[in-house]
Amino acid sequence: MILTKKFIECTVPVTACNLKCEYCYVIQENRRTNNIEELPYSIEFIAKALSPDRLGGVSYINLCGAGETLLPHYIIDLIEKLLVTGNFVNVTTNGTLSNRFDELIALDHELLSRLHIAFSFHYDELTRTKNLKSFFRNVDIVNKNSISLVVQCNLCDSYIERIDEIKSICVENIGGLPQFVVTRKEGEIPFTIYTENEKEYFTMGKHTESNLFDFTYDSFNKKRCHYCYAGAWSYKLILKTGELKRCYAEPVFYNIYNDISERIPEYPIGYNCKSDYCVNASHFLTLGTMPDIVIPSYDKLRNRKELLWYSKKMIDFFKQRLFEDNTITHERANNIAIIEYEDDYVELLDKKIIIYGAGNYGGIINKKLLDNGIKPVLICDSDPKKQDNQIVSVEKMKSSLDEYDNPLIVVAIKDDKIVNEVIYTLKDLNAELCTYYTVETALRHINKARGKNYGI
Ligand code: SF4
Repeated sequence: MILTKKFIECTVPVTACNLKCEYCYVIQENRRTNNIEELPYSIEFIAKALSPDRLGGVSYINLCGAGETLLPHYIIDLIEKLLVTGNFVNVTTNGTLSNRFDELIALDHELLSRLHIAFSFHYDELTRTKNLKSFFRNVDIVNKNSISLVVQCNLCDSYIERIDEIKSICVENIGGLPQFVVTRKEGEIPFTIYTENEKEYFTMGKHTESNLFDFTYDSFNKKRCHYCYAGAWSYKLILKTGELKRCYAEPVFYNIYNDISERIPEYPIGYNCKSDYCVNASHFLTLGTMPDIVIPSYDKLRNRKELLWYSKKMIDFFKQRLFEDNTITHERANNIAIIEYEDDYVELLDKKIIIYGAGNYGGIINKKLLDNGIKPVLICDSDPKKQDNQIVSVEKMKSSLDEYDNPLIVVAIKDDKIVNEVIYTLKDLNAELCTYYTVETALRHINKARGKNYGI
């Protein structure tokens, strides 16, 4: 059985695309610059920088452009060399560039058995550009050549009227339904779903019997609060520069090209996730970056069993989560606040709030709470120099917990390692725990519900 050591989400330097989907995240964010950039190093060098030897074991490498991934001239060579090292590879594509698929299927079949293609089915654009036929042809040849695949369709309002037409065209051409995905509207924070009519949008999604739709809908705007190993088991890589981030909301912390004989540092984010919600949970979480949550495996969300999209090798690979081939170093804290539904943000802020940390982060979150009419009941700090009439010691805070009914302790500290350490010292208390970032997210949600904006 092959275990999964790391998951690396790579941005391929291409912003050009032959389609122009209205909901495309790159277009929504005005990042469509129509460039196809060269890579700074040879493909051999890049493949070595991401090899199982370097990463400590067989890993899953996701290639995705900020445009059409298969456009760059080097892309097939890159896919091949990454596979030759022993890794598994995913390519996300709009499925229209038939010449690239012809090149792909000419690769060695053992290599193809470790390749996964995520075909984005952009129905409106495929119809407008007359690419529908090529799309289905490419899905077919990929399937016939034992490459694992998913066909996934980003839902948008224009499909509400045409969903039956979309379904029957798919049944006719691929033998069944694609998976469906919730589309995010960029720009507004907290994010909203890309629809003017959420009720009809939801009904349309529910009638697609798509595990991926259910998961992406359920995960939307759900702040993840459990211990996360992003930064140790998974990373976000900018392929052009080699700059590595621990996750989307993190700064660059390492360059994978500087010394390719060096092991990539492992520095888990732990409890201090800075994202409002895990926008790519269908990759990161299903692969196992957060071992304390129960979540369907990667292939379970994508496979349509009756369509035989996944090889046995691929299914076996995705059965192995990242936590099975990596050492779990954290201890589970059972009193972490959990966000399941939108109402949980309100309930969280309704609690008696204690701020742990009177430094910069403590000061900022205190002010934000006060600006929103919420007065924390206590602020504590372990540094005696910071303690005064208003800021109590940690011991004093602990001894006064009984005065409040299941209060919320907000660990307002920047450094992830310190946040994690502090959480362990609080894990047996009669209080719920969360971080600065959870409260910030909750404030954004209640402000949205109230139609206010305090600049948070
Ligand atoms: S939970 Fe947060 S840190 Fe972990 S993968 Fe998702 S966004 Fe990244």
